[in-house]
Amino acid sequence: MRYIAITGGVISGLGKGTITSSLSHLLVNSGFRVTAVKIDPYLNYDAGTMNPYQHGEVFVLDDGSEVDLDLGNYERFIDKSLTGDNNITTGKIYKEVIEKERRGEFLGNTVQIIPNVTNEIKRKIRKVALKDNNDIVLIEVGGTVGDIESMPFLEALREMKREEGENNFMFCHVTLIPEIGSSMEQKTKPTQHSVSALRSIGIQPDIIFARSKFPLSVESRKKISLFTDVPEEGVISINDVPNVYFLPGIMYQQGIVSFIVTRLKMQNGSFQDVWEEMKKNLEYPRDNVKIALVGKYTELKDAYMSHKEAFIHVTGKTGIGVEIKWINSDSLKTSTDSLKEVSGILVPGGFGYRGVEGKIEAIRYARENRMPFLGICLGFQAAVIEFSRNVLGLKNANSSEFHPETNDPVIDLLPEQEGIKDLGGTMRLGAKKVIINSDTLASRIYGKNEIYERHRHRYEVNPKYIGRLEEAGIVFSGRDEEGIRMEILELADRENFIATQYHSEFKSRPLSPSPVHVHLVLSAQKYKESSKA
Ligand code: GLN
Repeated sequence: MRYIAITGGVISGLGKGTITSSLSHLLVNSGFRVTAVKIDPYLNYDAGTMNPYQHGEVFVLDDGSEVDLDLGNYERFIDKSLTGDNNITTGKIYKEVIEKERRGEFLGNTVQIIPNVTNEIKRKIRKVALKDNNDIVLIEVGGTVGDIESMPFLEALREMKREEGENNFMFCHVTLIPEIGSSMEQKTKPTQHSVSALRSIGIQPDIIFARSKFPLSVESRKKISLFTDVPEEGVISINDVPNVYFLPGIMYQQGIVSFIVTRLKMQNGSFQDVWEEMKKNLEYPRDNVKIALVGKYTELKDAYMSHKEAFIHVTGKTGIGVEIKWINSDSLKTSTDSLKEVSGILVPGGFGYRGVEGKIEAIRYARENRMPFLGICLGFQAAVIEFSRNVLGLKNANSSEFHPETNDPVIDLLPEQEGIKDLGGTMRLGAKKVIINSDTLASRIYGKNEIYERHRHRYEVNPKYIGRLEEAGIVFSGRDEEGIRMEILELADRENFIATQYHSEFKSRPLSPSPVHVHLVLSAQKYKESSKA
């Protein structure tokens, strides 16, 4: 078993997650069995109760774990589904340690950060390593070196290197190379400081990932190598790329795979670029469409990360470029004019009432103007509310999430959610089977009658209204296994209007994009052509 730990220095937000993902991608496609672990040093047990404004989207795995969005990147780059064990938080570690203490497992001893917390960290990492017989485990440590919160994790990794042996463990450090002045001179001092902070806790990096706007100059590389004791071949330039899927290529060209293979004394694998075709389409799309993404966190694009990525996957597959027009849903309450310039509308998931009325307006616009529409989770529920109000004439139709006293709760709490008080990890979560009716738009999109998709919700279509909705033209083309939970809706007379209770974006991968996102983009292209004519 080999381990590669990735730490960060200087500032946060340097793209450590993308670098870790890219490295995983290169190693997987060089023939190794690879998995990746994200360490989040915060005290939250998981990302489930965190506000998208602070940490971006909450990503959901097959097993129902609510995790950091970096796990989404790992899955997309490794092309493998991970589990909740791949996301370690301080909260998970402490909970386990305290539970053990209560059970008396440390009887007679004082429980301490070193060794009790650090041992638990190492145990959790090794547990992931052993699962599926991996060759290499990448461990990304969130935060920057020097943070109080990440200290126990760095200490655990330092200990692990000694225990696993020099040949089986390496450290990579991600730093920033600012470029300043009119000459855009690259400055290596922050890197020097950051590496000395790392050394002061006993960690010597084997690789430096130098994040800069432009490729690292020969002098910068030499200087970094000299001051950090990392050989020049181990100093890797991470310069700006048009999108993240180009990063593995840039790293590969600098010889990173052979550097790692030599350092960890592994059998050399040869890298196969499975993204070649995709990257051509991304670079030279044959057409372009504009899609509106109507949400309430539109200033923070990371809140909709998986949708953004799903559209890139669609372009990679179809050659149709997607320009996302970010529309703050509240703005649609006064005017829907901003929707005139797009050819398709996506209403993604969400919680709470703010922004919902604007989303309903967007759906009304899509339905009345026959504009392509895709609704996801809350977008699915909002489509039911819109239809109930404007087609069935139930003026007060609403979700009991937003209006608990409404006389027409067309969206209502899932029965099993009744009485649940805790908010962490208690929704209907994770991969569940969806049965698709034949002869429906959904069956044409998916080409099969059974799919597994990831969920994250507390509310559903109220079974009492299904009959009336269907009579008026909604087709519930997908249901859960028991047939009682509505999963997909479409309109009887439309080929470009579909919404899903599940989050199709979470399973979108570069080579197998989310089928409903593909359909939205293809429909948008048709719509654009027909409105030109
Ligand atoms: N708030 C809605 C629910 O809990 C939708 C959730 C979502 O969009 N993820 O059911």
